[in-house]
Amino acid sequence: MRRNQFLVIVSMVALGLSSIGCGRTALPVAPPAAAKANSTVVDSEVVLVNLKAADQLDGKEDHVIGKCYVCALGMDGKAEHAAEFQGYTAHLCSEGCCKHFKDHPEQVIAETKVPEAK
Ligand SMILES: [Zn+2]
Repeated sequence: MRRNQFLVIVSMVALGLSSIGCGRTALPVAPPAAAKANSTVVDSEVVLVNLKAADQLDGKEDHVIGKCYVCALGMDGKAEHAAEFQGYTAHLCSEGCCKHFKDHPEQVIAETKVPEAK
């Protein structure tokens, strides 16, 4: 499936380039946005690596993530706002964060840069 998406992007870029050649417009052409078109596709391997790193933030690998993922792991999570995902328990800081995490767990995890453990 990925290979097909890649081919579509390549052909879109190729079409864009050839139309520039024929058009001969003097205006600068914006870089093709096609390269980021599939950014909503989440790599599950990235998600797992990220989860593991977040788990180790508190110094122990217990499959419990104590920081609020929705707040970029900068807030302390609470056990009362917990969400299960891929065998991990994530503690979120509030009901709103908990709901957001449960609605889009993979996206939240993939988009969160795990800070360095202190
Ligand atoms: Zn939060």
